[in-house]
Amino acid sequence: MSGASDMSQVRDLTKRSVYFLTSTALGSSPANRNPYGHGNAVSDFLSNVSRFKIIESTLREGEQFANAFFDTQKKIEIARALDEFGVDYIELTNPCASEQSRLDCEAICKLGLKAKILTHIRCHMDDARIAVATGVDGVDVMIGTSSLMRQHSHGKDIEYIKKTAIEVINFVKSQGIEVRFSTEDSFRSDLVDLLSIYSAVDQVGVNRVGVADTIGCASPRQVYELIRVLRGVVSCDIETHFHDDAGCAIANAYCALEAGATHIDTSVLGIGERNGITPLGGLMARMVATHPEYVKSKYRLEKIKDLEDLVAEAVQINIPFNNYITGFCAFTHKAGIHAKAILNDPSTYEIINPADFGMTRYVHFASRLTGWNAIRSRAQQLNISMTDKQYKECTHKIKALADIRPIAIDDADSIIRAYYRNIQSGENNPLMDLTAEEAAQFAMKEKEPGGLTSA
Ligand SMILES: [Zn+2]
Repeated sequence: MSGASDMSQVRDLTKRSVYFLTSTALGSSPANRNPYGHGNAVSDFLSNVSRFKIIESTLREGEQFANAFFDTQKKIEIARALDEFGVDYIELTNPCASEQSRLDCEAICKLGLKAKILTHIRCHMDDARIAVATGVDGVDVMIGTSSLMRQHSHGKDIEYIKKTAIEVINFVKSQGIEVRFSTEDSFRSDLVDLLSIYSAVDQVGVNRVGVADTIGCASPRQVYELIRVLRGVVSCDIETHFHDDAGCAIANAYCALEAGATHIDTSVLGIGERNGITPLGGLMARMVATHPEYVKSKYRLEKIKDLEDLVAEAVQINIPFNNYITGFCAFTHKAGIHAKAILNDPSTYEIINPADFGMTRYVHFASRLTGWNAIRSRAQQLNISMTDKQYKECTHKIKALADIRPIAIDDADSIIRAYYRNIQSGENNPLMDLTAEEAAQFAMKEKEPGGLTSA
């Protein structure tokens, strides 16, 4: 067979498979031709990505963050801010941890928040009695089931765990409040042990079972498989808790929802034990990109920045530069061709609309990668109107200067203004203060071809 006929066969096959895809699964609308595009997700009866609930644990998991120390006033302030944001549940530190923890728990229960208040306890009747007496709406019971935890932590066997769990669950339910039973280090526990415990607590009417990746070892595929199996074993809700040691906390939460989990644990900025858990803002970014209607109607997304600032200040950390939504460069576009597209239609390079979170997009124009569309847009913001030829020439000069030394936004603004003044006056004044050496370099650079200014 000749090379040419090989190629024509390949072309033919490609055409046929494209036809198959577009004519069967995806319909004929051009917007639907990408199987991964928004709105094309195959409907999945297990998936809860459009109806999940948040259990916000900044005041429990977050208290275990290295820098965290929340006094009563700060806890109340954070609880109110979480409630305003719209989280479904707020989880608090075990009231048995200290007398102050118990008093704080009582104080937050009395605030009359819309969010339900939970506290987190060991699987023990003494803890359960104290927790119930604080006035919480629910109790989150937890015990380690991995062989390591059974050996080095509490030393109990599975039958003993099951018996104690049922006793605690029956007691909490008898007090008319919610109860969740979670294993700890679930992904390193024996699957048969896990399913047998979850099934036993489901049968006595627990409200939720919890799966916790306490050590951050799970991958999204493992999560999907475990939750899907569990979904077939219990009829109650499924809560999940993911640590971020290996960078999968958000992906794992998302996969858990796809497999039928109903509740996700989060903390603001992800603060928690070691490097923390699924961050509230990061989960919102993931979910708003998947189901904007649900997320935007349920949560007050524009509050996320203030909420993160409040917690960051309380634990004395900076918001990371690459943080979801609120990191300083989350909506910054730099390259000239990106800037042009963004100015024409932001969705070209953005899956999240910054305005949904009360944030603004920023087109970075003070760099050697800038393009004339970005400079034109910036000039117009400065109320300076020129011809396209002049915008292009001004851009060329900014790029030349940015090649010589880093220029700040203020510098770029000054150059645009100085260039505009020169046009109006017909003079040729220097655009910015340069050393003799820089001026010589600039003169050379100005003669070079324009690079990507056309973009
Ligand atoms: Zn944890």
